[in-house]
Amino acid sequence: MDHQLVTTMIKPALREMAAYHVQDAAGMIKLDAMENPYALSEELRTAWLKFVKPAALNRYPDGDAAALKSQVQKLMQVDTRHAVLLGNGSDELIQIIMLACAFNQRAVIAVEPSFVMYRLIAAMVGVTYRGVPLNADFSLPVAGLQEAMVAHAGALVFIASPNNPTGNLFEAQALEQIIAASDGLVIIDEAYFPFAKVSLQAWMSRYPQLLVLRTLSKMGLAGLRLGMLFGQAELIAEFNKARLPYNINILTQKSLEFVFEYWGVFNQQVEHVIHEREQLLKQLSVLPGLQVYPSKANFILFKSLVLPAAQIFNHLLQKKILIKMMKSDNELLVNCLRMTVGLPEENKKFLAAMKQILTP
Ligand SMILES: *Cc1c(COP(=O)(O)O)cnc(C)c1O
Repeated sequence: MDHQLVTTMIKPALREMAAYHVQDAAGMIKLDAMENPYALSEELRTAWLKFVKPAALNRYPDGDAAALKSQVQKLMQVDTRHAVLLGNGSDELIQIIMLACAFNQRAVIAVEPSFVMYRLIAAMVGVTYRGVPLNADFSLPVAGLQEAMVAHAGALVFIASPNNPTGNLFEAQALEQIIAASDGLVIIDEAYFPFAKVSLQAWMSRYPQLLVLRTLSKMGLAGLRLGMLFGQAELIAEFNKARLPYNINILTQKSLEFVFEYWGVFNQQVEHVIHEREQLLKQLSVLPGLQVYPSKANFILFKSLVLPAAQIFNHLLQKKILIKMMKSDNELLVNCLRMTVGLPEENKKFLAAMKQILTP
């Protein structure tokens, strides 16, 4: 009975989708989800509570989050000729863009492997999805993307740079070739901007079809859910209509006043993470049986060349260290694992466990 309701009522694209699986991480050293490992100090928690205390929970929040938006515009140095849209995470902004553009047989184009939500949200919204494989060295498949853009007029091209899960930043020249060739929109997802410090934001004046996506999740605020989209004011005004009212809740709005006041603290944590990433890259690279890929993000992708990836994953799990085993449905990711940079002592434990299994 239930099953019949599901098959008659739920659209096939959704039924065929696996639910987004989040591994239980209780009691683990959590190096699986690109979170910032630094918790707030007791002192900062107290300061934070002062900011949220006046929040009127019985009232709707500012539906436009106008104050927050103008703070974001200033802090992120978004040119006043361009506009900002805030989302409940950048995931929501990806959904808003697709919803707003889902007509005329629109297609979404993304490289693979990349952030899986481009494909999942496209399926949910009901737009055609076209994946273009990355080159073997993880560089941008310029010809392949251009071909896909010719096949799908007015496509939405999503490119994460640095890319997740590969960790590399794409070459500016290659990105420019894609943006210049686009007759639709190109969304550059700069979720890992804090760790790479390279942005295409300045190109928005030259290319009206360019949108830049950011998030605060990877720099210490994953729990707050704030995504930011920058682009042409006219486009952003249309996307804003596709946004549900009050998408940024009052606690997030208030908490962000605190965050921006103490912005330096979060920036400092990012610097620590970058430092640790560089150490880890060096130390992992000298271990036998691994291919370690360069990273400009807060995680490192590596391929196990001798042992099965599952053996490494399980060995770490026994040591209460959780990283991410990549699905091998993409041939570039066969036997690959991805670890998120943690606290210095967590990274040490991770390295020790890696050494133990790779150099018995
Ligand atoms: C983590 C991630 C996001 C999602 O960010 P939220 O703001 O937490 O929704 C978006 N894009 C990429 C490439 C990511 O890795």
